[in-house]
Amino acid sequence: MLKLENIHTSYGRIEAIRGISLEVSRGEIVCLIGSNGAGKSTTLMTVSGILKPLKGSIIFKGENIRELSAHRIVGRGISQVPEGRRIFPRLTVLENLEMGAFLKSKRRKAEDGSNYEIAPAKQIEDIFDLFPVLKERKRQLGGTLSGGEQQMLAIGRSLMARPDLLLLDEPSLGLAPIVVSKIFRTIRELNAQGLTILLVEQNAKAALKLAHRGYVIESGKVTKEGKGQDLLDDPAIKKAYLGE
Ligand code: ATP
Repeated sequence: MLKLENIHTSYGRIEAIRGISLEVSRGEIVCLIGSNGAGKSTTLMTVSGILKPLKGSIIFKGENIRELSAHRIVGRGISQVPEGRRIFPRLTVLENLEMGAFLKSKRRKAEDGSNYEIAPAKQIEDIFDLFPVLKERKRQLGGTLSGGEQQMLAIGRSLMARPDLLLLDEPSLGLAPIVVSKIFRTIRELNAQGLTILLVEQNAKAALKLAHRGYVIESGKVTKEGKGQDLLDDPAIKKAYLGE
């Protein structure tokens, strides 16, 4: 579904990723692990078009999307849940979800001539089924939610675009263990429903248990790749990333 070939992305003179190649097949959960500053978030932002690579190609469903703008990339079926959640704090839960449907609605209008529709009720109901707490709080301002609820809202908002590929950046960051378990269960459930997921996580153990495959990123390069379980069993990975 997604293939990155020799991607290089810089912030000015800082070369954050230096020749990353990786693949995500339809139906997979793939995780990127690595220490702080390794280039994981930069990789996701390059896929979603927020950052433009200097070199390399990004093939999504057979098309090179490297030159497409971020909103067109959403239209192609890639949606990102950014690190730190970044929901709209002064909008209600419902309004936050409606914002997530905005681009997709435009795409529907362009492709099939259907009328502009800000938030298809069915989609909102699906998100509420996934996260019932968001339904209870639908009129509450996003900024008043707990960290875990904001993460659920951020995921819900991205799902409103009906992506084929979801990019998740550090969904467990700063959350209590019980909430992290809920988020990880949801990721598994979404995958079981057919969503393909590329996940960046500091919590390497949980991510590798969840993922079908993983890549280790160090200093902007892939240094290892393999099945989740094989990486969990790898002594060098145990020492460097699993605290064992
Ligand atoms: P973290 O878990 O800390 O987010 P990461 O693996 O996601 O780590 P990136 O955030 O992709 O790493 O950062 C890769 C490199 O790019 C680091 O050297 C970082 O300092 C640098 N970098 C990231 N964002 C910027 C920015 N906005 N401007 C300049 N340099 C940046």
